[in-house]
Amino acid sequence: METPAEPRAHSADPNLDYVYATLDGLQRSSPAQAEFYQAAEDVLASLGPELESDTHYAKHAIIERLVEPERQVFFRVAWMDDKGQVHVNKGYRVQFNSALGPYKGGLRFHPNVTASVIKFLGFEQIFKNALTGLPIGGGKGGANFNPKGRSDAEIMRFCQAFMAELHRHIGATVDVPAGDIGVGAREIGYLFGYYRRLTGRYEGALTGKGLAWGGSLGRVEATGYGCVYFAENMLNARHESLEGNTCLVSGAGNVAIHTIEKLYQLGAIPVTCSDSTGTIHDHRGVDLDLLRTIKERDRLPLSRYLETHPEAEYTPLSDYPTDGHAVWRYPARAAFPCATQNELTSGDAEALLANGVTCISEGANMPSTRAAVEVFLDAGIAYGPAKAANAGGVATSQLEMQQNAGLTQWPIDKVDARLREIMTDIFNRCSATAAEFGEPNNLSMGANIAGFRRVANAMIEQGLY
Ligand code: NDP
Repeated sequence: METPAEPRAHSADPNLDYVYATLDGLQRSSPAQAEFYQAAEDVLASLGPELESDTHYAKHAIIERLVEPERQVFFRVAWMDDKGQVHVNKGYRVQFNSALGPYKGGLRFHPNVTASVIKFLGFEQIFKNALTGLPIGGGKGGANFNPKGRSDAEIMRFCQAFMAELHRHIGATVDVPAGDIGVGAREIGYLFGYYRRLTGRYEGALTGKGLAWGGSLGRVEATGYGCVYFAENMLNARHESLEGNTCLVSGAGNVAIHTIEKLYQLGAIPVTCSDSTGTIHDHRGVDLDLLRTIKERDRLPLSRYLETHPEAEYTPLSDYPTDGHAVWRYPARAAFPCATQNELTSGDAEALLANGVTCISEGANMPSTRAAVEVFLDAGIAYGPAKAANAGGVATSQLEMQQNAGLTQWPIDKVDARLREIMTDIFNRCSATAAEFGEPNNLSMGANIAGFRRVANAMIEQGLY
């Protein structure tokens, strides 16, 4: 980290001078890392009140230490396609902070993966994991590999090439990766198989494993289910519920599918889903079985939905509004962004409010732009930030670690009950912390400060390292 710059002229709150000096230094030392900078600013800019009430964080240079990963591994992944052609991708594992436990966070395989994307995800993960109350540190990894259109054999060879380097850096008590975009049960299987072969150890070095070989019941569903449980907590606190209400969901992957499933279980009506090619609106409710067939089994574009339901509305990416996304332009009570980062703009946020949405629960990581978040906070609606609302996935991964350590497998009822309890605890932690500063509805600030406190205090108590 470079020497902090002079405070920014626009820093209105003097307590934020320390934060903005660090952010300025970050921009100089990590240029062209826009996503990482956005995530760091989002967290750090809300810490002003906490830094004011407790000045020892500055003495321990906690902010400067938090934005600098403990370790970053960047590596070459060379693999062969089915025609014998060799390809080279960039692999990453960023081990951000281990003050609370082994590094924990997913692996993302997507062509837009860069060091900035992995660092933003790893940074968010520190606070998310802290919020769960469980003993897990923060990390993230992945590769700029596009799995789309690749055969199973090609996916296997890529995963093996990726693990050929990654295995040196992970382990059940060191760093425990899981899935994320482009890394599901199939990829975790190939990665775990090769880890075992290379190390000779059968241990919980990855989560999201198959149920017959160390996986936890309920892990696949956990992020989506948890995101809906979080919305339920927010609404219950306002004496409202999801039952009978129309909901918008973006995405068509793991998180979106299980969000839709849980919404149906709670009596809500999810009417949208989307993928990287377009959006479906089905006013009678999304046909979940069909969605699974198209996206999970056949891995096809969402437009195929119309072949079975021609009465549904399909908007291709090319017809999206210029200031946002088609999926957020329908009347509803609650919205669940479950696709990817920055998929909900301020234009989308204004449209959601105008269409009657009073609850947002973020399943994806950083799906709302900073301007969109400001729209939600200004409107005073129930806004569940990603690091709180989607923490159910990593929390259940930690439950998988507990089961692996105890050489056991818990029944689904136990895992789901624990997940529900953890999501309620996270909600209570966020709202109680926000209330301390006189803003009980600002769960974004509550999440950032509650997560920060737990990590920062652990770092101070463990001495300088
Ligand atoms: P998947 O790969 O299973 O699904 C991602 C979905 O998002 C796909 O439907 C994909 O479309 C769509 N998508 C990707 N990029 C875009 C884009 N630019 N525009 C529109 N749609 C897009 O990933 P997950 O469901 O696992 O992850 C979704 C989000 O949730 C990510 O932000 C992830 O970090 C976050 N998350 C996931 C957790 C988990 O347990 N899996 C845990 C916590 C957070 P297509 O099918 O066309 O590729």
